[in-house]
Amino acid sequence: MASDLDLDESDHDQMVSGRSLWGKNAIRPQWRPMAQSLSTDVLVIGGGITGALIADHLAARGFSIVIVDREEPGFGSTAASTAMLQWEIDSTLMELEAYYGFERAAGIYRRSAAAVAGLSKLIAANGIACGFRSRNTLYLAVNQEGARDLREERQLRRRAGLPGVYLEHPDLFTQFELDRDGAIYSPGSAEADPLLLTWALIEMALRRGAQLVSASVTALHSEGGRVTAETDGADVIEARHVVLATGYSMPGFDMPKLHRTSSSWAFATVPQDPVTFWRDRALIWENNHPYLYMRTTADNRIVVGGEDDATTDDAARDRKLPAKISAIQEKLKRLWPRADTRVAHAWGGSFGETADGLPLIGPLPGMAHVFAAHGYGGNGITFSYLAAQMIGAMIAGIHREWFEDFALDREGPGIRRFAEDRLGIGDELR
Ligand SMILES: Cc1cc2nc3c(=O)[nH]c(=O)nc-3n(C[C@H](O)[C@H](O)[C@H](O)COP(=O)(O)OP(=O)(O)OC[C@H]3O[C@@H](n4cnc5c(N)ncnc54)[C@H](O)[C@@H]3O)c2cc1C
Repeated sequence: MASDLDLDESDHDQMVSGRSLWGKNAIRPQWRPMAQSLSTDVLVIGGGITGALIADHLAARGFSIVIVDREEPGFGSTAASTAMLQWEIDSTLMELEAYYGFERAAGIYRRSAAAVAGLSKLIAANGIACGFRSRNTLYLAVNQEGARDLREERQLRRRAGLPGVYLEHPDLFTQFELDRDGAIYSPGSAEADPLLLTWALIEMALRRGAQLVSASVTALHSEGGRVTAETDGADVIEARHVVLATGYSMPGFDMPKLHRTSSSWAFATVPQDPVTFWRDRALIWENNHPYLYMRTTADNRIVVGGEDDATTDDAARDRKLPAKISAIQEKLKRLWPRADTRVAHAWGGSFGETADGLPLIGPLPGMAHVFAAHGYGGNGITFSYLAAQMIGAMIAGIHREWFEDFALDREGPGIRRFAEDRLGIGDELR
């Protein structure tokens, strides 16, 4: 869930709960309580960006769809997203290569780049008004060692056919006025308003006959080629296939061991004078764990986030908000001294992470006809698009070997070493 606090345009002391930064003046999809039991080809549980992309994709393929959400669609972690639509993954190509080998790592990166391109095309083809803009990214080194890593990372990316250039400190400083030891500057990413995008996709699915209902799914039963979803009311939903697009929880199931829930915090500044922005309004992030990430908005704010930690409790996340925002504010001041860092709107939210930084997409082990789509980390929305394509193919009976890279029960020495090194649980995956 996203926690959300509005801060006065100029003063940290006046905090008011409520609004989201995103989705202003939009007409929200009609979300009605279930009035009766339903039967459908595909039940999509969750109406965030993942569920919206999946519902739109499957409705376009001609399936009948029911989307069910216990909250107003979009107001899970989607509303908290800073919606930087990046193809660069939280694990570098070098890290993925070290654990999975070059070919597999390069394939994963290329698919991520293709996902951002596919999402851009989907938005353009349907004229979706969601503040979408193509953006370059600046991936900043945090110190000299980081700069060496990024130089090597860029060489490896070139070998994989991925675009971008490495900027040494003098180039970075003269071209972008950013005082860091080096950076990779890459084309092919984008930004959007995540709520406008989610709601537009749901509307597109509804126009193709999908239904959107309000209920909490409490249990699933798979038998005889049908899945029955029990809800918190008296009604049930019967489906040929079910897709869990429930963010960082799975109703009635334990999340895979590879998964961890974390929190991230972000704020939007007061509007800036546009002449004070860095070149290109590039998306900025760092080669660090956790990393600072930032973008600009159509109304000339800087949205900046980071300070991720393992907080899972909503109340604890809210308590940490002022300190986290102050820390991010300080980092923003250091990185971009021209910024007016007054906070207009601050929030925190949960998101899912995995040991290898890759999403969990595919069949739910042990439950026929049930798929899960959990788009994680800094690439949540990119991976949500990938999930829609993959699950669409799986439901149509198509299988590709590379689907295993994202499987919920992925196996092998690489993922065991990732789990050991990053989560200390390698043995549990044996
Ligand atoms: C501060 C922050 C910044 C981020 N920045 C970025 C970014 O810049 N770029 C990026 O790509 N990603 C980013 N992310 C990650 C991104 O927001 C998520 O990956 C994405 O929003 C996940 O969308 P989702 O639809 O899978 O989940 P959610 O938006 O959480 O939607 C899940 C939905 O399922 C519903 N649901 C759950 N259980 C049930 C149930 N049992 N019955 C009925 N309904 C149920 C919930 O009510 C919810 O509406 C960020 C996340 C945070 C917190």
